[in-house]
Amino acid sequence: MAEIQNQDGVEVGAESTNVCPACQALLSDGTIQGKAVLYCTKCRGLLISIDRFLPLVEFLRALSQPTGSDVQPRDNFDADRKLECPMCGKTMIGHPYGGPGNVNIDTCEACSVIWLDRSELQRIVMAPDHHPVYSR
Ligand SMILES: [Zn+2]
Ligand SMILES: [Zn+2]
Repeated sequence: MAEIQNQDGVEVGAESTNVCPACQALLSDGTIQGKAVLYCTKCRGLLISIDRFLPLVEFLRALSQPTGSDVQPRDNFDADRKLECPMCGKTMIGHPYGGPGNVNIDTCEACSVIWLDRSELQRIVMAPDHHPVYSR
């Protein structure tokens, strides 16, 4: 069975029972490079567990050549937003991502998950202030 990746690199599966914290649509089960995520087909945000997040970023970086050409200043539209964790319903903690990409992320420590808004994963992957794993 051929899986179709959408424009965000997500292979979207069946709808889940979890609600999108950003737009309240139902999230769908999905995978990115075989790693399970919950994906919102409406606002294109995604929820990923913290332990899968960094390996995924490394994997995607190995596939793409970060150019730095499309890096944007930090967008603070979501800085003061309060999201409810789709897994436990508690308020997620919004904070600037400590790594590259100039994005604000929302995390739930109880569930060990990260919410990434549309394109935030790509921004982190393509950020220039990263020292590629495979460079010498
Ligand atoms: Zn959504
Ligand atoms: Zn939670």
